[in-house]
Amino acid sequence: MSGIRVLVAGASIAGPALAHWLRRRGAEVTVVERAAELRPGGQAVDARGVAKEVIRRMGLDAAVRAARTETAGAHTVDVDGNVLETYRADDDGGDGFIAEIEILRGDLSRVLYDDTRDGVEYVFGDRIAKLTQDVDGVDVVFAGGDRRRFELVVGADGLHSALRAMVFGPRERFVRHLGHVLAFYSVPNEFGLDRWLLEYQESGRSAGLRPIQDATRAMAMFCFPAIEFEVDYRDVAAQKRLLRERMAGLGWLTPRILAHLDDSPDFYLDQVAQVVMERWSSGRVGLLGDAAFSSSPMSGQGTGLALVGAYLLAGELAAAGWDPEAGFGGYERRMRSFVEANQEIGRLHARSRDVPGPDVEPSPDFEGEWFTELIERAIHGVELPDYAGVPDSGATAGPRGTLSVNP
Ligand SMILES: Cc1cc2nc3c(=O)[nH]c(=O)nc-3n(C[C@H](O)[C@H](O)[C@H](O)COP(=O)(O)OP(=O)(O)OC[C@H]3O[C@@H](n4cnc5c(N)ncnc54)[C@H](O)[C@@H]3O)c2cc1C
Repeated sequence: MSGIRVLVAGASIAGPALAHWLRRRGAEVTVVERAAELRPGGQAVDARGVAKEVIRRMGLDAAVRAARTETAGAHTVDVDGNVLETYRADDDGGDGFIAEIEILRGDLSRVLYDDTRDGVEYVFGDRIAKLTQDVDGVDVVFAGGDRRRFELVVGADGLHSALRAMVFGPRERFVRHLGHVLAFYSVPNEFGLDRWLLEYQESGRSAGLRPIQDATRAMAMFCFPAIEFEVDYRDVAAQKRLLRERMAGLGWLTPRILAHLDDSPDFYLDQVAQVVMERWSSGRVGLLGDAAFSSSPMSGQGTGLALVGAYLLAGELAAAGWDPEAGFGGYERRMRSFVEANQEIGRLHARSRDVPGPDVEPSPDFEGEWFTELIERAIHGVELPDYAGVPDSGATAGPRGTLSVNP
């Protein structure tokens, strides 16, 4: 054991994935999560290309596949429910619009947490209130009153990262709103939904239903344009009011889906936004996942970036003998162009949903060769070193996978 103590803020996807790799590389890991328990909810997230390879290296193939939504594909529909277009989950070798590995965010978070809970210290219902770094370490004061010292601190606390604000500056400097808002919540499956996702679009707004593992329920999804976004991301009642307001008059099954808004156990709404930063670290403090480089749900790759980033960050730090400058620097060099390709896709998809108008850029031509190349870079465009010679305990507490992802 190196005895290196690392504090990670956030227990969603990036945090537990990083905890897995740090522990395997020999660090002692504490994860602090603001919520009182692991947060359920969120729509399906996808793992494509290299992210699938990271899941395989984590030994979590079988556990992740067992929790998949098993969505067969997607239909876009007209106001009467007639199918307009079809996308299949096995298109593009399983790495297409509906990925072969598609799992509810809350379920993936649970798999990662179950895998690490025995070897990692999880502290729920607390957060970092203050931190001060010197050459050898970081003194942390927790909101609950504890004071502790760590060698490294990593913020995996999402788009609205408090650690980023504390160390790097106010959110306005880094968060770019792409002009749309997304909302998700589960509803009783009174719509006869089978394994196919349905989506209806009308003048820049959309409503959809997605199958989930529990066939008695479905995941409702809404998207609407919003130039300004003033609603507090923790004020759920205000978010629901906003959704009702903005969805008024939308056709198809929208009124029936909205009728379940008040009894949803897992409502989630947020702006479609990206985080763009010149550096993802400052001294002994680094950032990972949405906190550092949110590509927005429109890229379909936020989870993939978090998983790949976790692997590289732990690997580079351990390979550098836990030297923050070399370790954080190596992680940035390896990740940056991969992140940029995914952010580009997020921006293009957001633009394609803009309502046409004189001041609006035309929708991109997704049929071009340039887009195929961009997708290739966004899915496969990062090398995963095997870090031979770097300690690897191979430890995973959860079920180990035997399935091969890339047969
Ligand atoms: C409830 C929820 C639902 C989501 N739903 C979707 C979805 O449907 N589709 C989609 O594409 N993306 C969704 N996302 C975002 C998606 O999870 C990320 O894009 C991606 O997986 C990268 O995850 P992350 O771990 O970097 O950030 P996030 O998943 O945003 O996780 C950040 C974590 O940090 C915690 N946190 C926040 N502030 C603090 C603090 N000060 N101290 C400690 N912990 C803190 C949060 O509670 C959360 O658990 C959702 C995120 C959450 C939290």
